[in-house]
Parts: sequence; C-alpha cells; structure tokens
Amino acid sequence: MSETQDVVIVGGGVIGLSIAYALARDGITSTVLDRRELGREASWAGAGLIAPTSENRSGSLPPTVELRSWSAELFPRWSAALREETGIDNGYRRSGGVDVAWTVAEEHELQTTAGRWRVEGIVHERLAASDCLQVEPALNPELRLVYFLPDRAQVRNPWHLRALSAAAAKSGVRLKPWLAVDRLETRGDRITAVRTSAEVFSCGWVIMAAGPWSGGLLGDIGVHAPTPPLKGQIVLLRHDRPLLMRIVEHGKNYLVPRGDGHILIGATEENAGFDTRPTAAAVRDLLSEAIGLCPTLGQATVEAVWAGLRPGSIDTKPYIGVAPGFRNLIVATGHKRAGLQLSPATAELVAALVLGRKPQLDLAHFRVDREPDPAADTIRS
Ligand SMILES: Cc1cc2nc3c(=O)[nH]c(=O)nc-3n(C[C@H](O)[C@H](O)[C@H](O)COP(=O)(O)OP(=O)(O)OC[C@H]3O[C@@H](n4cnc5c(N)ncnc54)[C@H](O)[C@@H]3O)c2cc1C
Repeated sequence: MSETQDVVIVGGGVIGLSIAYALARDGITSTVLDRRELGREASWAGAGLIAPTSENRSGSLPPTVELRSWSAELFPRWSAALREETGIDNGYRRSGGVDVAWTVAEEHELQTTAGRWRVEGIVHERLAASDCLQVEPALNPELRLVYFLPDRAQVRNPWHLRALSAAAAKSGVRLKPWLAVDRLETRGDRITAVRTSAEVFSCGWVIMAAGPWSGGLLGDIGVHAPTPPLKGQIVLLRHDRPLLMRIVEHGKNYLVPRGDGHILIGATEENAGFDTRPTAAAVRDLLSEAIGLCPTLGQATVEAVWAGLRPGSIDTKPYIGVAPGFRNLIVATGHKRAGLQLSPATAELVAALVLGRKPQLDLAHFRVDREPDPAADTIRS
C-alpha cells in the first residue's frame, strides 16, 4: 500500500513531535513514524533541565548560545500553548538552580563558567556559605563554592511528550507508532518514498529525527552524519518530605527535585553502543554523588533506575538543515545532552525551512556537512 503525505517525520521523540507540532500550527499536517511507542527513548529518559535564558540581546553571542537561549525563551510559551490546547500541564517550572564546587580545581572551573554567564547575560549570584544554608539547607555545608541561578527551569519529560502528541493529533498529525522505517528511497537529489515494514509513504519533505539511529538511515543513502549514542543513566529517589527546592548541578552531575519528594540523580556519560541496561557501578556512583551533595538523601528510597541514549554528532552541536545532495531531506538530530531544551527552537527552524521562510538563526553552524567544531560545549549553560 502506498500513501501520499507531504511531510514524513522519521522518529517520534521530542524533536520529531515538536517539529510536527510546529508545522501543524502553520497549517501543515505531517506523518510521524516511530519504530516503537512515541517518545520512549532518550526523550522520555532525560532529566528535563532547561537552561536559563540570556539577557544579552547584543546579537554578538555564539550561534550555539543564541540557539539555547532562544529555545529557553520559547519553552514557557510552548508550555502555556500546549496546556491551553490539550489541558495537559507539562510540568514546566522555573525552579531555579544552584551550581556547586567541592574542590579547588572545581572552584576555578565554576568561576570560569560564571565568567561565561556574565558575558551571556545569564543571571547568577555567588552565595556566601550562610546564605547557601538558607537557600538550600539540606546541601552539604562543606561545599566550597555555590552560585544561585534563578532562571534554571525544568519540565517533566513524559508529560511534555504526552502534551505534544495530544496537540499534534488534535491538529490532524498522523501519529504512527510501531512502524519502523527500513529505508529512504531516492531518485537523483530527491527522496521519493519512506519505506517501512508495512507501508510505503511518498513524500514532499522527509525530516530525519530518529535520534542516534539517524546516522545509520542517512548513511544508507550516502549522507555522512554520524549520530553516536551516548548512554546516560538516572536514579530516581523518593524522600518523605521535599529536601531540595532547586536543581543542583555539580559539573555534569545533577539533582533534580520534582516538588513531590521525588529527586532525579543524573547522569552518566558512557560510550556503550545501543545498550540501555542500567549498571550497578553507575548506580553506585550516582548514589554516592547524591549523598555527598545532600547527606540526608541517604535515607531516601530508590524508586527506579533507567538509561537512555543521547544522539551525538561530529562535534558538540546538533545537525539542523537540509542534507547535502538532497533537496527534500532535512536532518534534525545530534542534540546530545540538550535535546529537550533545544527542541522548540529546532522545531521552529525546521518549520521555517519547510515553509520556505528565512530561518530565525544562521543555520551554517549546524549544517550536516560542516567541519567539526572543536569549541567546548556551550549548548548547555
Ligand atoms: C539520562 C539522560 C538525561 C538527559 N537530560 C537532559 C536534560 O536534562 N535536558 C535536555 O535538554 N536533554 C537531556 N537529555 C538529552 C535528550 O534527552 C536528548 O537529546 C533528546 O531526547 C533527543 O531527542 P530525539 O527526539 O532526537 O531522540 P529520541 O528520543 O531518541 O527519539 C528518536 C525516535 O526515533 C525512533 N526511531 C529510531 N529508529 C527509527 C526507525 N528506523 N524508524 C522509525 N523510528 C525510529 C525511536 O524509537 C525514537 O522514538 C538527556 C538524555 C539522557 C539519556
């Protein structure tokens, strides 16, 4: 059986669903294909941290920072619109955060980061030890350095995905879970069809948003866009009273209090291929980190442990743009540790490409065929 659809989106994670939602808002109904349930991979597994917005409006910020900041601005607007359209609260809240350092080396690193926040216009305040204990009394009093960032925010991933799916479906988007894309069929510089195990979809545009599986599907048609999976494990704790109010970040680790006594501890970064099994060593390390930062967590109960696969790219930036050699194939993946927070901006950019509008940001930096950018990761704040 063959179906004609204008836009076919491969992958129903947060990137694919956000693109479908943005397109539907502009009157374009797409088809979203996922090889399993929608939004059950990294998009479900992530912690839902949203970076603070930047108050620097000079236009002089690096493109990655512009992307991050714009997306952070879009998040509350999208959240309100989704709630209005579907009645589903995605849990977005500006809970604020504290970034902490234990050692002298970490202190220097955090001070360097604070210098970057100053340039980027991210509101932050260094806390004296006494203030820190007032702001977050459960934190370990032996921490050397603590910064308060009032604009750090969070979202509940499964709720956000549910809201996106509901809003998209309401606007006529055809959501097709359990339909794996086997390959893209090509003629010259066009994708002519998307072939799944059960159906063939002819298409005007194809959007590749299959997370770490994108690289393989693209490689089959000669597009070089590696998306190596980066495994991340999370432990979910529960304490009988809320211990922390704000997100605590310590280097790449974090504690995310959900406001109902649940606290997420994340996350590892491992090159483990497509293996998503949680491991004892990771759980041990995450628990030790959490109890070090917040000793009372030793009494919390372990509710769950899980892992997900962040989609990598050739460097630290996502791919957002038309695939080289093809006129109707857009790649939107490789967001690594920041796919949730970058999803609204990514979707707006892809919608602009499909609609033939000038994208809101210069996409040269996110081209699929760019040279790898050795710059440090500025996608996450
Ligand atoms: C532990 C952890 C913590 C994280 N924390 C954060 C955070 O705090 N903030 C943040 O911004 N980001 C975070 N991330 C990163 C974020 O989750 C990812 O960048 C984001 O979810 C990627 O979304 P995606 O839609 O590109 O990929 P995915 O969620 O992987 O979605 C891709 C979809 O494509 C489907 N698919 C694959 N192959 C096919 C095929 N052949 N045919 C059809 N469908 C296919 C898959 O089933 C999947 O549903 C975290 C990730 C992890 C693992």
